[in-house]
Amino acid sequence: MVALALDLKTRGQRVGVVPTMGALHAGHLSLVRASLAEADETIVSIFVNPTQFAVDEDLDKYPQPFERDLALLSEAGAKYVFAPSASEIYPADCSTTISPPAISKKLEGEFRPTHFGGVATIVLKLFHLTRADLAYFGQKDFQQVLVIERMVEDLNLPLAIRVCPIVREPDGLAMSSRNAYLSPEERKRALTLSRTLDQVEQLIRSGVNDGFEIITEMRQGLIDGGVERIDYAIIANPRTLETLDPIELPAVALIAASVGDTRLIDNRLIT
Ligand code: AMP
Repeated sequence: MVALALDLKTRGQRVGVVPTMGALHAGHLSLVRASLAEADETIVSIFVNPTQFAVDEDLDKYPQPFERDLALLSEAGAKYVFAPSASEIYPADCSTTISPPAISKKLEGEFRPTHFGGVATIVLKLFHLTRADLAYFGQKDFQQVLVIERMVEDLNLPLAIRVCPIVREPDGLAMSSRNAYLSPEERKRALTLSRTLDQVEQLIRSGVNDGFEIITEMRQGLIDGGVERIDYAIIANPRTLETLDPIELPAVALIAASVGDTRLIDNRLIT
């Protein structure tokens, strides 16, 4: 990987990197297309990063349809795929990790306290290994983008982050590799997340600015729609993730909720 990256650099190519955990869908492919359109060369990484999963999470059952992923990437026109093994990335004596920025402690950080440390560490390693000039991330993982942007700034990394919009199924469900876990019945209830975000956006656009009122409606909408557990459902400042009350724009509505055993996240940026 490094030899390839250095070769691309000596030829003056701008390298775009798309970090993924595989089980690719149209959301991932939109990032690949954005990189193909902007960067001179695109490297897609596929690595199910063990350090961002807690022991009780779904690492062992995370889908890994590798051949299918390669076919999708090849169809999309991607030339380079970097798919290292866990032991190459984390040899037994590897012990340095990144302590992620303060913004990682909120929201996801409350429920997955080790998650963003693992994300920041792997993303930094991928940036170095690929000598990335540009890196593409999805707004689907809203807080992850803030964590990575902060790390890039705090550690003076010489690359630019690009954020691509959330790609949804025709009925509104945000695409996610984890949607594959949903039974047909759970798949219907999972729609509650995007529907609730639609309602929140409508309320805010109609002039309601009482944060408490909207969050109460938001939680009720999720419960009525049949989610089993709400980790968080908030309206926040999109830069700081501080709760907004009264609501002012720009605002981001963020949800993490479980349907069956599947934890789903979704968000809506309202500008
Ligand atoms: P993952 O494979 O889940 O680690 O995701 C890899 C990248 O794809 C991350 O930057 C995600 O934010 C992005 N991504 C995942 N789902 C979507 C989606 N529905 N729309 C846009 N980007 C997405």
